[in-house]
Amino acid sequence: MDTTTSARALDILQTVFGYPAFRGQQQEIVETVSNGGDALVLMPTGGGKSLCYQIPALVRDGVGVVISPLIALMQDQVDALEEVGVRAAFLNSTQTFEETLRIERLVRTGEIDLVYVAPERLMTQRCLDLFDASNISLFAIDEAHCVSQWGHDFRPEYIKLSILHERYPNVPRIALTATADHQTRAEIAHRLQLDDARKFVSSFDRPNIRYQIVEKGNGRKQLLDFIQAEHTGDCGIVYCLSRKKVEETAEFLNENGIRALAYHAGMDHAKRAANQARFLREENIVMCATIAFGMGIDKPDVRFVCHLDLPKSIEGYYQETGRGGRDGMPASAWMAYGLQDVVLQRRMIDESEADETFKRVLGQKLDAMLGLCETLSCRRMRLLEYFGERSGPCGNCDTCLLPPISFDGTVPVQKLLSTIYRVDQRFAAGHIIDVLRGVTSERITQWRHDSLSVYGIGNDRSEQEWRAIVRQAIALGLVTVDHESYSSLKLTDAARPVLKGGQTVQLRQYQKPVKPKRQPSAPKGYVEMDLSKSEQAIFDKLRWWRVETARAHGVPAYVVFQDATLREIAKVKPTSLEQLRGVTGVGEKKLVSYGDEIVALIIDMQ
Ligand code: ADP
Ligand code: ZN
Repeated sequence: MDTTTSARALDILQTVFGYPAFRGQQQEIVETVSNGGDALVLMPTGGGKSLCYQIPALVRDGVGVVISPLIALMQDQVDALEEVGVRAAFLNSTQTFEETLRIERLVRTGEIDLVYVAPERLMTQRCLDLFDASNISLFAIDEAHCVSQWGHDFRPEYIKLSILHERYPNVPRIALTATADHQTRAEIAHRLQLDDARKFVSSFDRPNIRYQIVEKGNGRKQLLDFIQAEHTGDCGIVYCLSRKKVEETAEFLNENGIRALAYHAGMDHAKRAANQARFLREENIVMCATIAFGMGIDKPDVRFVCHLDLPKSIEGYYQETGRGGRDGMPASAWMAYGLQDVVLQRRMIDESEADETFKRVLGQKLDAMLGLCETLSCRRMRLLEYFGERSGPCGNCDTCLLPPISFDGTVPVQKLLSTIYRVDQRFAAGHIIDVLRGVTSERITQWRHDSLSVYGIGNDRSEQEWRAIVRQAIALGLVTVDHESYSSLKLTDAARPVLKGGQTVQLRQYQKPVKPKRQPSAPKGYVEMDLSKSEQAIFDKLRWWRVETARAHGVPAYVVFQDATLREIAKVKPTSLEQLRGVTGVGEKKLVSYGDEIVALIIDMQ
């Protein structure tokens, strides 16, 4: 290993970014790319991917090109770099022609360290000519999973990025993603011709995120209770499946005193962009959104991510929840889920235009998601297992904190399966539960289902309990929902041994949705930084200072300093620039820009 390269990289980390040490695999990645090698980096959101290409771009001669699909966020990324004194710019369609010319000149003359471009822009002849005539230090391909045709963020232009290798064989490439499944990983390596690149696979665990999945009753009300109990005044994201529900949820939260905004693809562009900007810039806003929102959102202080509808896959769920707690402080991932979600998602797959192979893949992904919802064991273990990682119970998810009660559900499941069989597998869940519970309804009379032997054999359980059993039977693959015929429940081959009594079934006991209690204890695995009363006062003052400063500079608050840095300042109480320099997140440029103000503020408070 080239020691001067390592020393320079560490020096940049400390003096420019203000961080004392590399995290996890950052150092190895930075050294690989700085020395001209290719790298494929799989790291969870918040793991610290940006530094993996930003530092090599500073170590190496020439301009680093960052390919990113989201032009809306380039401005903030560039602002953040400029705040620490790195010369950065972007090339995209939001610029005037004069501005484009100016940036192109900077790239050509090498008066800039990093330039961000969208993939479609990169593919233009003009852009390729520019890069041909410039000294390029590296190509960073961010959100590299966009190359995967199976993924939900597929971007056709990404496939064409393989030309980078052919056109610039001597320029190192680093591809980065937070999506971890094997198929996507293989596709990235293959399609971007990175088979020979060094692979860096980090643990995908996000120990500061607390996972909770609750049974859905009145979802919106449960959401409100959750936010009020655990996250008043925090910034968060609430994902909903439909545009209508996004709007309704935002309205409902606002009516109940929580500042909420909406975001979905059906809104006009200006409104959407304005809402996104407010979310990024202001504190304590809850964004209600479809999954159109969020890719590349690198707001570090999102304290909770909620799902009011079941995500289609664990990849999606993990990526969405991963947007919480990027700063390493405690964050929540909360979801409400019910039988209706399963039925709806299955129908969406069945009714989609996709071919059979694709539908099968979608079905498998949904099954894995259901498995996570119904698991009796630690959620985190299930999640990590899905990404090929082994771990023990985490102590920071709902099933660890309040272990679900399991019971031998063989008999009730047998009752369910026989009822489905007795009604010729032609009825939906609601009717089947009515038969089991011995309810009188018009339809039951009409079909004479009250004369069946199974009529009323399940009247010892409530409708909610039966719904939970149906859901689990689906998750276990004993029952399927057939959308070709009115969402009727059908038995699978796997149901036979259970019906015949050769196989037992463990179920999760239905637990009434309870109003969540405020969490007193902080989870383990993140930097403990409880503030005393006087420190809290300093922190609050610093936040005010930050709001003013960010407004004056026209940048998001976290670009000035992140919460973690302000907390550390409140703890350390630096009364000299030298003391302030030692705080994580304070680099040379910020010391010059803000040092005097901060020190004065601290002295003033003492
Ligand atoms: P990703 O792109 O992987 O989601 P980021 O690059 O945005 O993650 O980094 C996440 C957070 O971690 C940021 O707030 C960043 O400033 C911080 N960070 C990254 N590397 C380090 C490090 N070596 N020391 C301290 N903080 C770091
Ligand atoms: Zn757990």
